[in-house]
Amino acid sequence: MEKLRYFDHAATTRMDEEVYLSMLPYLSENYGNPSSIYSLGKLNKEAINVSRMKIANSINCKPEEIYFTSGGSESDNLCVKGIALANRRRGNHIITTKIEHHAILNTCKFLEYLGFRITYLNVDSKGFINLKELERAINRNTILISIMMANNEIGTIQNMNEISKIAKKYRVYLHSDCVQAIGNIKVDVRKLNLDAISVSGHKFYGPKGIGFAYIREGIPFMRIIDGGHQEKDKRAGTENVAGIVGIGKAIEIADKNFDKNIVKLTNLRNYYIANLVNNISDIKINGDLERRLPGNMNVCFRGVDGSILIQELDSRRICASSGSACSAGFLNPSHVLLAIGVNERLARGSLRVTFGKDNEIEDVKYLVESLIEIIKRIRKA
Ligand SMILES: *Cc1c(COP(=O)(O)O)cnc(C)c1O
Repeated sequence: MEKLRYFDHAATTRMDEEVYLSMLPYLSENYGNPSSIYSLGKLNKEAINVSRMKIANSINCKPEEIYFTSGGSESDNLCVKGIALANRRRGNHIITTKIEHHAILNTCKFLEYLGFRITYLNVDSKGFINLKELERAINRNTILISIMMANNEIGTIQNMNEISKIAKKYRVYLHSDCVQAIGNIKVDVRKLNLDAISVSGHKFYGPKGIGFAYIREGIPFMRIIDGGHQEKDKRAGTENVAGIVGIGKAIEIADKNFDKNIVKLTNLRNYYIANLVNNISDIKINGDLERRLPGNMNVCFRGVDGSILIQELDSRRICASSGSACSAGFLNPSHVLLAIGVNERLARGSLRVTFGKDNEIEDVKYLVESLIEIIKRIRKA
């Protein structure tokens, strides 16, 4: 059987062997409840705190500012709903963008239902928001701005520095979905002056079902999972100890290999796009070529249906994505591609390839050769 070639790292990643091994004791003999006061429990409380410290070190915040959650979606919910609900007496207006992940967009819809007003900022043809439009959108009821650091579909990296200056100028809280950023961009919450961020373990070779929110000390926020006293009363539920240990190990490894990985992913991506452009006509590259996630390439092939393309690739044991994973299976074209002005027909022919640390040039070569053949065949038919 043909070897599996995986190019969908924005959807999820294979857990690192070292992460897996670090978790094993917490899936077996270290089974105590971290809230118990005997040794078997305290041991796990200690493991959680070590992981919290590793994360705080990595993103430059205090360990007390980290709240473990079940992943990126829950972190987005916690940051946006939590801050909105706790600050509703100050105002009911929130600003976000049209290209956010559905964990943000649907959270905003829920808040609209509760009476909040949401502004969804436009983006330009590369996926950047307009800073003047952001500034104009702020009014005296604005309490929160939520803008993703890097887009999961087209890889565009926003200018968080400038966005953060505007948020500070008007004293509006700033949250950023950093799920795609960790491992790809250095996230320093102090330097960027961020009030809250969301992160997910499985996007950077950690386990699924674990994530964290950073929420700056002193910012009022309400919990959204009610129950016991875990996470300083801000997120109830017995801790996912193995997951917490795993995400701590994963962020440590991501930092250690940061430079090496960026170089590798950039090389793979440049090789891919150069060979694609040289061999296949009628291609549109989506997103910006400079301010872009190193491993991301998103293109539209005119006259090609993305879902058929994915099936053809799958039959060659190649994993890639058409649009976002969440909207795959539906016929709707990606909301991100529509927002950058790609027309519906062309948007349906999109292919997102996201490289990872275990991909090699030979794998990319096979991908390009397959694409040349498949697209030639589809366009002839
Ligand atoms: C994957 C992803 C999420 C959701 O994270 P989960 O851990 O899968 O819930 C949120 N935002 C972005 C940008 C993502 O890529």
